[in-house]
Amino acid sequence: MTAGLLALALVAPAVAAPSVELDAAAVLLSPGSRSSCADVPCLLETAYRADPKAKAIALALYRDTGTVAGVGPEELMDGGYRGMIRLVPQLPVGAHRKHLVWTDQAIRSIDAWFTALYDGTTLSPAYRWTALKLRFVRSVKKRTPSAYAFQWTIEYNVAGSLLTSADGVRETLFHELFHLNDEAHQDWSAKTLQTDYDAIVARCGTKSACLAPYAPNTTKVRATGTYYAFQPNNGSGVHEYAAELAVRYYREQSEMLRSGKLARPAFKCGPAENARAWQALVDEFFAGRDLVPPCR
Ligand SMILES: [Zn+2]
Repeated sequence: MTAGLLALALVAPAVAAPSVELDAAAVLLSPGSRSSCADVPCLLETAYRADPKAKAIALALYRDTGTVAGVGPEELMDGGYRGMIRLVPQLPVGAHRKHLVWTDQAIRSIDAWFTALYDGTTLSPAYRWTALKLRFVRSVKKRTPSAYAFQWTIEYNVAGSLLTSADGVRETLFHELFHLNDEAHQDWSAKTLQTDYDAIVARCGTKSACLAPYAPNTTKVRATGTYYAFQPNNGSGVHEYAAELAVRYYREQSEMLRSGKLARPAFKCGPAENARAWQALVDEFFAGRDLVPPCR
């Protein structure tokens, strides 16, 4: 390296990489008790001491991605259409270790996906998928919600009905990750998609046949038979629609990377609302990158 290049490297703008602060990690890993740890690995070593395999995964996940896997607090949650749900802290160790394995794989897989998606370009997405706070909990006598997200934190329910396979965990985490980025983009989905979303709901209500062309994915709520993206009494519906749209983007780009074509029609080639939502998502979060060919 020449002296000139070295100097350039040294004065490159110091955009601090996101990280989980020690205090926040202590809340996840040593809740309710004072810790004498001076760094996050020490907190992980202590919290996971009863399960060396889980400890190794949690340490590696933190080392490689900055993400800290701990527990959430006990709480009684108003789950909207799901009713009231009691959540209790559950570290992913022992019989629950598989959830940490799936989560670790999912986060690494999503990281590799971003690398592949932008390979050979100078583009970079306006998106964060590192240095997350993971709060593992267990719901009592219910299997919902599978997860929820706020402020770079993802709450993960080891009893969640969607979290029973590596694929289920990866897509659920991608969905939650979108909520975090949507929030960081000043509630982009409500600002951008609400008008079209409301018009679709006004026209279709909860009728599946009417909603089908607009639903980004086939996931339906078991109790009501409604597409998840359009389920009433589920917080802000447009947030869920947008997170499902992001999952559809993830699926379609993955398929293009894998096989160079889509097995079923592209979402953007459906109704005009779909095309608008898709383009807005691609431009806001993914630097305009879309491997899916234009519609014919
Ligand atoms: Zn959601």
